[in-house]
Amino acid sequence: MTPVASQRYFDQAADLIHLSDELRQLLSTPQRELTLQVPLTLDDGTHRVYSGYRVQHNRARGPYKGGVRFHPAADLAKTRSLAALMTWKTALVDIPFGGAKGGIQVDPSELSVTEMERLTRRFTEALGPAIGVYRDIPAPDMNTNPRVMAWMMDQYSIMETYSPAVVTGKPVELGGAPGRDSATGRGAVDVLESHLNFDGRPLAGSRVVIQGFGNVGSWMARTLVDRGAHVIALSDVSGGIYREQGLDIDALSAHTAQGGLLADLDGIEGDGITNAELIELECDVLAPAALGDVITIDNVDRVKAGVILEAANGPTTPDADEVLWDRRVAVIPDILANAGGVTGSYFEWTQNIQQFSWSEDRFNQELGERLSRAYDKTRAMADEHSVKLRTGAFALGVERVASAVTLLGHR
Ligand code: GLU
Repeated sequence: MTPVASQRYFDQAADLIHLSDELRQLLSTPQRELTLQVPLTLDDGTHRVYSGYRVQHNRARGPYKGGVRFHPAADLAKTRSLAALMTWKTALVDIPFGGAKGGIQVDPSELSVTEMERLTRRFTEALGPAIGVYRDIPAPDMNTNPRVMAWMMDQYSIMETYSPAVVTGKPVELGGAPGRDSATGRGAVDVLESHLNFDGRPLAGSRVVIQGFGNVGSWMARTLVDRGAHVIALSDVSGGIYREQGLDIDALSAHTAQGGLLADLDGIEGDGITNAELIELECDVLAPAALGDVITIDNVDRVKAGVILEAANGPTTPDADEVLWDRRVAVIPDILANAGGVTGSYFEWTQNIQQFSWSEDRFNQELGERLSRAYDKTRAMADEHSVKLRTGAFALGVERVASAVTLLGHR
């Protein structure tokens, strides 16, 4: 998500709800931004220094909440936009958190596991007192996973006291919640199903194309197939695979679980395609589940899907978003489509605090209920004002935060 996109979506929502100038100013700036030095000793004994970030956008509705990404393109401006997106996302699904985002500007593929661990622990140390169970709760995002969360939790617990609730998305053995790992992908399918059913269409039988086969993409694919939809194309960084009758997701998962890339498939039915071709395939639903800015003004005219499900954060550029709106292609926006992740994080956090664990069935049921409620409210808002689902979703989020801020007397 670029700063231009996040400001534009915020402005459109602010216009819709007639937000005052004071509140616009207050809510379009973050409360706190940290730029951190993260030194690392490599396995060969040499040293490097990385830049780390944490932006805490707003905490009117509860502690700051949001992921940490390890990515070469992570910088303060992007982290700032993504932090604001978290504030609207947590408000939209009505969980008691504010919004934050963090990251380290690093290419994790260049690091060994021990280097990753040291880097994560140094970053957690540098964050120090800025995070906490009731202060700011990090979670996984691009290139971070339950293992990274375990290191963060452990380092924080060394510095403070045993605090499993200081991060979410942990391994189940260390206080993670069964269901959290699949929650973003499963939640995206829950939201898609609500959308299709609202218009009297079933999910079963839909033809879906997914870009990305990491945590989100792979859980989406599995959940879609379980519910009778056909995943006709999938891709990862290396390229993709397409099969009109639907792909064998179990076989693909087995291949990638061994570290295999989709470009090197052998013995699995389907034709090789590029990521660019995948975006332009004829299908019912296109779900970008990896990078930002993949549907742009340059390819939007060739996008043939009837529904775009934004499982990644910021996959559609604002110009392309306008073109899709003019064509009445439904875009289910990121803050709704991928809100299953942070909603699942909320369930994990509450279980850690109560030291009481739920069954995975209860987790999935509560997740589905919350997301379908959020979809219905978004849809009602968008239809009432004849605006995009994105504007409806942002408006609901911004309105809730604005009212919390006003009640607290922050302005
Ligand atoms: N990184 C995820 C997101 O962008 C999850 C954040 C969380 O669970 O706090 O929504």
